[in-house]
Amino acid sequence: MKRIFLLITLSSSIISFSQTDEQVIREIYTQSLTNGKSYDWLNHLSNQIGGRLSGSLNAEKAVAYTKAELEKLGLDKVWLQPVMVPKWVRGAKEFAYIETAPSGFGTKKTTNVNICALGGSIATPAMGLKANIVEVKNFDELEVLGKEHIEGKIVFYNRPMQPDVISTFEAYGGCVNQRYMGAVEAAKYGAVGVIVRSMNLRLDDLPHTGSMTYGNLPVNKRIPSAAISTNDAELLSSMLKLDKSLKFYFKQNCKQLDDVLSHNVIGEITGSEFPNEYIIVGGHLDSWDLGDGSHDDGAGVVQSMDVLRLLMESGIKPKRSIRVVLFMNEENGLRGGNKYTEVAKQKGENHIFALESDAGGFTPRGFSFDCNDASFNQILSWKPLFKPYFIHYFERGGSGADVGPLKSNTNVLAGLRPDSQRYFDHHHAANDTFEHVNKRELELGAATMTALVYLYDKYGVNPISNDDQIKD
Ligand SMILES: [Zn+2]
Repeated sequence: MKRIFLLITLSSSIISFSQTDEQVIREIYTQSLTNGKSYDWLNHLSNQIGGRLSGSLNAEKAVAYTKAELEKLGLDKVWLQPVMVPKWVRGAKEFAYIETAPSGFGTKKTTNVNICALGGSIATPAMGLKANIVEVKNFDELEVLGKEHIEGKIVFYNRPMQPDVISTFEAYGGCVNQRYMGAVEAAKYGAVGVIVRSMNLRLDDLPHTGSMTYGNLPVNKRIPSAAISTNDAELLSSMLKLDKSLKFYFKQNCKQLDDVLSHNVIGEITGSEFPNEYIIVGGHLDSWDLGDGSHDDGAGVVQSMDVLRLLMESGIKPKRSIRVVLFMNEENGLRGGNKYTEVAKQKGENHIFALESDAGGFTPRGFSFDCNDASFNQILSWKPLFKPYFIHYFERGGSGADVGPLKSNTNVLAGLRPDSQRYFDHHHAANDTFEHVNKRELELGAATMTALVYLYDKYGVNPISNDDQIKD
C-alpha cells in the first residue's frame, strides 16, 4: 500500500520535468474524459441561455456567463474586448404556402410550406408577397431566363448539396452562393423575392437560415429572401413541373436595426518564457436564433475554454501566452474576428498559432492547417502522437473565419476537423440543440485541441525556411 502511494507521489512530482509528450497528451485526454467541463458549460449556454444572435439579449448573457466562468479558472487575465455588431431580428414566425388554381371553377388550393427568413433579409410587405415562382439550379440558368422570364416573379434556387462529396463542408461550399448571393443575382432581372433550398443533405421539414447579402444594391432594389426546407423544396419543384403558373406566398417581418455594442470574451495564461508570443484558441459565441447553437458554435466555445483549463489541470506551465478568444458575430458580420486582429496588430502582438473550432462538436478527426511548407512539415512530425486517439487528418486547408484575419507569412492557423457527416442536418436550423451533442465526442475534441496547443507552446512555430523567404 505504502509503496504504491510513494510511486504515485513520485510520478506526480516529476510531471513538469521529464514527462514525454506521449505521457502529457495521455494526461490531457484523461483529464478531458474524466474531469472535463466543456459539456456542463455547453448545457448552460444551450439550455439556460439559448440561441445567441449578435446584438440580442442572449448574446449579452453568453458574454457575461463565459466571462464569469473563465474568471473562476484562475487565469492570469480575463477581459472583454468591445466591438460594434449588426443587429438583425427575425420578428414573428414566417409563413408560406404554394397556391394552385385548378382549371374550371374549382377553388384555389393552398399547401403550407416551412420557410425561415435568411439572416440580413428585409421583410415582405406587411400583407405578405404572392407571385409566380421560377426554379433555377444556378446563376447561369438565371441569366439564360433573363428579365423576360424573371421580372415580377420569385426566384427559387434549388441546387441540392451534392451527396457524393465526402466532406460535407465541400458540398456546402458548392451550394451556399445561392443563399448568400441569390438576392443580388435575382434582383438584376427584376425578381421580387428569393426562396432558397436549405443547405441540408437530409430530406426533412426544417428550414436552415444563414447569412445573405444585398451587396451594393440600393435600398429600393432589395428583395426579401427565405430558405425553404428540403422536403418542401422537393414538393415545390414537383408541383412546378405540373403547373408553372402556380403562385408562392410568403410573409416575414425581419428587420435590420442599428449596430449595437457587444464584446469578444478573452482569457489568458501569460507565458513564463516568451510572454510576447501568443497562441490562441477560439470559437464564436454568437449563433443563429432558430436552435440554441449547440454545434454552431457552442461546442467550439466550450472546447476552447476547456483547453486552458486542461493545460492547467494537466500540470502544464505554458512558456508562451495562451489565450482563449470567444468571438462575437461570426455568423453575420465577422466583426469580432476582425476586431481581435485589429487590436492585436495595434499592440504589435506576435500571434504564432491560432486554432479555431467551428465545425461542430462531433468526433474529432484532425486539423486543417493554413501555413508555410516548413511549418507543415513540423506538424507532420507530431502526427504519430495523435494516433492512439484516432486523430489522423492532418491536411493543408482553411482554418476558421474568426482567426483568418491573423494570417501572416510565418504563423500557423488551424481548424479542428470533426467528422462532418451529420453536421448539416443541424447547421443553422431549429434542431441545432444540446441533445445532438455527444459528451464524449465533445470532450475528445477539447483534448485534441489542447494536445496541439501544448505542442505549439513547447516547440514554437518552425522558423521560416530559406525557400519560403525566397518565395515571399
Ligand atoms: Zn459557426
